[in-house]
Amino acid sequence: SPCGPCHRAVQGRRAMTQIYDRVALIGLGLIASSMFWAMKRNGLAGHVTGYARSAETRDTARRIGLCDTVCDNITDAVANADLIVLAVPVGVMGDSAKDISPFLKPGATVTDVGSVKRRVIDDVGPHIPDGVHFVPAHPMAGTEHSGPEAGFDTLFDNRWCLVVPAPGTPDAATDRVIDFWHGLGSNVDVMEPDHHDLVCAVTSHCPHLIAYTMVGVADDLRRVTDSEVIKYSAAGFRDFTRIAASDPTMWRDVFLSNKYATLEILGRFTE
Ligand code: NAP
Repeated sequence: SPCGPCHRAVQGRRAMTQIYDRVALIGLGLIASSMFWAMKRNGLAGHVTGYARSAETRDTARRIGLCDTVCDNITDAVANADLIVLAVPVGVMGDSAKDISPFLKPGATVTDVGSVKRRVIDDVGPHIPDGVHFVPAHPMAGTEHSGPEAGFDTLFDNRWCLVVPAPGTPDAATDRVIDFWHGLGSNVDVMEPDHHDLVCAVTSHCPHLIAYTMVGVADDLRRVTDSEVIKYSAAGFRDFTRIAASDPTMWRDVFLSNKYATLEILGRFTE
């Protein structure tokens, strides 16, 4: 293991059988839609419900067949669900958890896909009722595209998913979430939340911040024209522009929610 006791590699089988009877997706963007298509590809769920806050996203989901049932309210989406996946920006995970809390089935598991773990655990944890399990996770996979039409069934194939179970969670609930992510195509590691946030600050969060800023610098620089930037962009800047096309709301929440680890890495970068 690369970093000692805070990190546990989980060898897994590629599940091709149903793992949950009913799954509810809260938020229907890139990650949730990719999870749906991968669940369908591998038969991981009996029935998948979905909910997103805007009617436009729900209409798009219905049009493209994303979810077995798209619900117009969050209560219907989570009713009887065995697994509830919070797939909204990190800053609103707590609000979504509060909304669903009274309607969760005893024995159900709540998970999330947020890019920051300490903040999500602090915000969501207090809303998890007794008898419901909370197993946070973070798939280390994405693209610069967002929304319900951005997903595809191979997004998680051979990528890592970091599972960060809350203290006291029964092993059976954690193991089922791990099986689920293996079934979606991922490799899985179990990690402590603060370590997760530091690892992601260096591998993902700071690189995004630097890319956004570098594209901003090029935009701001009056002595080099836009056409020169485009014309002479080789791989370096071209990749920065792709990364900087990512959804600003999602990334604003990531930076604000992982402030200390991001600042630590930025400080080292500046030095
Ligand atoms: P996305 O494509 O932008 O979709 C976000 C979803 O959240 C949409 O359904 C949106 O609803 C909903 N939403 C946005 N703001 C909301 C609010 N204030 N209240 C309630 N719902 C709101 O995002 P995504 O890329 O799937 O990211 C979802 C989560 O996955 C985030 O926590 C992110 O940190 C994490 N993640 C992302 C990546 C990546 O590379 N994109 C990778 C790993 C993990 P409407 O469509 O109705 O606006």
